[in-house]
Amino acid sequence: MPESKRYDIIIAGAGLSGLSLAWHLVKKNYTGQILLIDNSFAPNNHKTWCFWGKKDHPFADIAHRTWKNSLFSALDFSSELSLKEHIYFCVKESDYKETILRTLQKAPNIDLLEESILDFSSNSSKAALITKDSNIYLADYIFQSIFMPSHYDPSARKYPLIQHFLGIEIKTDEKVFDKKTFTLMDVDSDFNDGFAFMYVLPFKKNRALVEYTIFSANPLKKKQYKKKIRSYLKEKYGLTEENYSIKRQEYGEIPMDDRPHTPLYSSRIMNLGTVGGFTKPSTGYTFSRVHKYSKKCAQALVKGVVPPIPTASSYRFRYYDLLLLRVLATNVPDSRKIFRYLFKNSPVDRIFKFLSEETNFLEDLMVLASCYYPPFLRALTVHPPLITQFDKDYLAQSKHKELKEDNFEDLEQRPYSSDKDSSQDAELESDEIVQKDRLNETVS
Ligand SMILES: Cc1cc2nc3c(=O)[nH]c(=O)nc-3n(C[C@H](O)[C@H](O)[C@H](O)COP(=O)(O)OP(=O)(O)OC[C@H]3O[C@@H](n4cnc5c(N)ncnc54)[C@H](O)[C@@H]3O)c2cc1C
Repeated sequence: MPESKRYDIIIAGAGLSGLSLAWHLVKKNYTGQILLIDNSFAPNNHKTWCFWGKKDHPFADIAHRTWKNSLFSALDFSSELSLKEHIYFCVKESDYKETILRTLQKAPNIDLLEESILDFSSNSSKAALITKDSNIYLADYIFQSIFMPSHYDPSARKYPLIQHFLGIEIKTDEKVFDKKTFTLMDVDSDFNDGFAFMYVLPFKKNRALVEYTIFSANPLKKKQYKKKIRSYLKEKYGLTEENYSIKRQEYGEIPMDDRPHTPLYSSRIMNLGTVGGFTKPSTGYTFSRVHKYSKKCAQALVKGVVPPIPTASSYRFRYYDLLLLRVLATNVPDSRKIFRYLFKNSPVDRIFKFLSEETNFLEDLMVLASCYYPPFLRALTVHPPLITQFDKDYLAQSKHKELKEDNFEDLEQRPYSSDKDSSQDAELESDEIVQKDRLNETVS
């Protein structure tokens, strides 16, 4: 049997969260041996990551574009809102990956490996990873952003909402965009199967990402988003298809889950990024939350202490999210009014601070009071505060599963991988069982 290589840390998945952790470790001069593993390190441009922050933000330098002015429009209210304390950043996935990988390649203690991961296992003293090529790697800790915990049940969400969107990056013949002002939300009053809005990021006067986003239970067909975008471009900018070319397209489906995810995949294996529940349920923003944890985690690892287990948002913010999710899932007209009142009555910086979960209780009340609140009062009767322990069962279940040592004795409990193709699954099955037995032997 080939020997398994041992590391201090394995980072499985080099997307947003895996690269973030590796980057923070290098910046803090962590000296342990790190393995960073992904299917591929080839830079791609499937996403643009936007987030708000201050001008000294660590990724300010690689921002493709920043804005201080935003446009909000819903129902009878439309206004330019300027950001006083924040900047809205947009980072291209390819720039983020290339910049971080360049830094990592110079670090003597990081091995970058392109292999496809099959599974993980762990016991109280080590964690192991097996690849589809049957290679096993061991570490004190694995940080993974690939597999959902096996007991994650998407159907058990209280409100089956997803944020789904399709955006096209276009180049126009004429200079039609105001590159100083991005459209945060232009709410669509005609769409009634969900809360829907347009989002426009003007990169240049003749180049922009135009995205149609919906919060609802089911995604549309791709051509339906495109049709909406085409008519929006015509109505707002007088553009027909002859006036622009499509340079790129991005599509996403982000679950709006009211429950906190379990932070541990199994002992010594932490979940990061989307599978770690770092996405804010009511907005889909993930970037800043990921970096906040990575920074804390890197500090602990440099000091040689146990890495902090990622914590869910405080009860207060999860409760607000739950109430909003209820309104979004049950009443689209009221949802439009909530956003219309919120952006009309609250400064956008305060809204961003609230969405970053950095407001104090008094500031929360100011934000909540600025909304259209009757739907929240109705939601309160369904989910009363204090006695609503809405995630108690889920946490109890997670705790039970986490305590169980994960030796893959029960092969039915296989993790769900978002990128696994079910038809390939059957073919791989017998091979996987043999490989998991090897992983099992290594760990036990
Ligand atoms: C189109 C789109 C736009 C988004 N825009 C924003 C935004 O503007 N702002 C924001 O805050 N959030 C945004 N998000 C949400 C979130 O930030 C991203 O989804 C983010 O990429 C999640 O980071 P992650 O590390 O969890 O996963 P990923 O970035 O997807 O990384 C996972 C990595 O695992 C690798 N991998 C998967 N399976 C295997 C395997 N079996 N073996 C080896 N490697 C594997 C993949 O190659 C990938 O590199 C967006 C999401 C989408 C889909």
